[in-house]
Amino acid sequence: MHKSLADPGNNPDEKTKGATETAPGHAAPVLDFIRAIVEEDIKNGKHEGRIHTRFPPEPNGYLHIGHAKAISIDFGIAADYSGLCNLRMDDSNPAKENMEYVEAIKRDIRWLGFDWGERLYFASDYYEQLYEYAVQLIKMGKAYVDDLSADEIREYRGTLTEPGRESPYHDRSVEENLELFERMRAGGFPDGAKVLRAKIDMASANLNMRDPVMYRILRAKHYRTDDKWCIYPTYDFTHGQSDSIEGITHSLCDLEFENHRPLYDWFLDQLGIHHPQQIEFARLNISHTVLSKRKLRQLVDEGHVGGWDDPRMPTLSGLRRRGYTHQAIRNFCDRIGVAKRDSIVDIALLEHCLREDLNRRSPRAMVVLRPLKVIIDNYPEGQEEELEASNNPEDESMGTRKVPFSRVIYIEQEDFREDPPKKFFRLAPGREVRLKHAYYITCQRAIKDEQTGQISELHCTYDPKSRGGWTQDGRRVKGTLHWVSAAHALDVEVHLYDHLFSKENPLDLAEGEDFKTHLNPNSREILSGCQAESNLADAQPGNRYQFLRQGYFCVDPDSSAQKLVFNRTVSLRDTWAKIEKAQKMQK
Ligand code: ATP
Ligand code: MG
Repeated sequence: MHKSLADPGNNPDEKTKGATETAPGHAAPVLDFIRAIVEEDIKNGKHEGRIHTRFPPEPNGYLHIGHAKAISIDFGIAADYSGLCNLRMDDSNPAKENMEYVEAIKRDIRWLGFDWGERLYFASDYYEQLYEYAVQLIKMGKAYVDDLSADEIREYRGTLTEPGRESPYHDRSVEENLELFERMRAGGFPDGAKVLRAKIDMASANLNMRDPVMYRILRAKHYRTDDKWCIYPTYDFTHGQSDSIEGITHSLCDLEFENHRPLYDWFLDQLGIHHPQQIEFARLNISHTVLSKRKLRQLVDEGHVGGWDDPRMPTLSGLRRRGYTHQAIRNFCDRIGVAKRDSIVDIALLEHCLREDLNRRSPRAMVVLRPLKVIIDNYPEGQEEELEASNNPEDESMGTRKVPFSRVIYIEQEDFREDPPKKFFRLAPGREVRLKHAYYITCQRAIKDEQTGQISELHCTYDPKSRGGWTQDGRRVKGTLHWVSAAHALDVEVHLYDHLFSKENPLDLAEGEDFKTHLNPNSREILSGCQAESNLADAQPGNRYQFLRQGYFCVDPDSSAQKLVFNRTVSLRDTWAKIEKAQKMQK
């Protein structure tokens, strides 16, 4: 599989464009390859012109952003062509599925803004019908009960270069197969003693066609059917028939299913039932993270993260807790489009879509993350005033707020240098800077802690004529700092996040490494004692802000009035804009 770190939007070979884009020199929008097929089918009257898709998650984990891509395609295409999209839980593995996951999946899809109406289905509701299909195949001489163990079946299967061998039980009579399968269902055999297999071709070049297992014996409580069944259909025998039962016209899925398509086609053709058309698209991969439920579950189970909704996780619940908006995610899905070839999308593109959206909707606030005390010596003791500050310079309609100012304030430690290097335009001894929305101040002296040698506070003077941040004489300063009045400040906790994996492609492994080798040990930094402007006192969980000069932040759900906790959603620095600019210059 070829993988490249590319913006699929910039290379016409990598992707067919989303439906809304217009090709250079053409007036008509260019369709992605799936929509092109769908339009052709409608034109030809296939399925009476009906469009019916589905999103079929297995409820064995939380949805991640890769699923958001599939959801946008499945629900998006149905919406574009006045069709329907079902939500179906593809539950055929009682050991790993449960209701918590079902509820989380529903919540996440709703959050993205998609609606399955009344059409929430469960493959487990089709178990009786699937059993009937299996019986039908046995009667046709197309399925048999096999006594080989799982290991033996694997051994008999052969390899990519060697054909498989037929099981000694391959030629059991229809009657014997029917009787044995019925006894399997009735609980007549221990777990693993027998399986039902399709009788196809042990020499097929496609390993999936070498008499795949259709049913196994498993005494496990199913989260919906309880202990009604002790045999369970495999995913491969469940998925395609479930699509057929629901009358799906276009079964859209990722490329991992490409090699399974001949098998799904075989089942449907043998059974002579409604045959949806399966179309595969490339899975979404994103740099610095992994998109696989199995791997994400491992991170949760082994405690590498705080849970499925840890703000570092690429799950939809993690991204939501981090402060992502559903609009940013949907916009991202539109931009990456629908490709047929696997690639790794730069996480910077996702963050770029996020900043675009947050910039418009987030009110501004001033919060000092690593405080340094500043005393303004010529500001009268006991005096305080309120200064007017714009809530969002991008959107006047968001209005203004009052920010308290007084003699002692906090600024960021990194905004002062005793010995400023070239191009450091912030505060330094003797230097004048602007306090945003407030006054010009000049640093008179820095006080050091005798023991540590660290700067403990600054003494400054202010220019009373510079109220609002502008002087009447037009005197200019190069630096503008955010600040918070010490007497009014709220003590808050801030969580800074970085990539979950330090390596661009965490799955590109050397010998002896596993995907967890490249977990970023610094993916979360917790800062306590941060000082926030008093206007944040009534911030509610989920509220989003831009902290001036710092980035976008949102209130964590575990936050309370006693202890406000903010997650950094994304910093202000837009690496994607830089990448794009560099790409343009190369052209
Ligand atoms: P994972 O490997 O993460 O466990 P999965 O394929 O097993 O994913 P399912 O619940 O079976 O998860 O997936 C539901 C649907 O989402 C399928 O149609 C699948 O094609 C699609 N899907 C899963 N992962 C991605 C991805 N990274 N990009 C695009 N589509 C995906
Ligand atoms: Mg899958």
